Amino acid sequence: MPVDTTLPYDDQNIFAKILRGEIPNRTVYEDEWALAFHDINPQAPIHILVIPKGAYVSWDDFSAKASEAEIAGFIRAVGHVAREQGLVAPGYRLLANAGINSHQEVPHLHVHLFGGKALGPMLLR
Ligand code: AMP
Repeated sequence: MPVDTTLPYDDQNIFAKILRGEIPNRTVYEDEWALAFHDINPQAPIHILVIPKGAYVSWDDFSAKASEAEIAGFIRAVGHVAREQGLVAPGYRLLANAGINSHQEVPHLHVHLFGGKALGPMLLR
């Protein structure tokens, strides 16, 4: 079910629970600003989600409200994971769904990082 990202942050969302350690995840990277973990339903050989530690619903919410340090830390974490996973030379794709039309399902900002095969052109069905 897509979420309405104009609503206030819901601290019962699944990624908030992962950040609090209430449900398990397969972590690939963590620092002060971000957590990266394997997607539970991978759409590519490598499918990692990178989330900021702060309570932000979407990219636009994050970019409007997060501090410079949070923004820099999160963006650097995404690049760090791409490098650490060996994705720079073969290439990879980043995707951040936001709101109803994108079918965002979890109302905590997350960037999907896809790789591990030739992904083909981006398709909008
Ligand atoms: P989106 O549609 O952009 O909101 O993507 C949400 C993503 O979260 C989907 O790719 C799900 O497979 C993934 N997901 C949902 N629950 C979990 C979980 N507990 N651990 C890891 N990934 C999850």
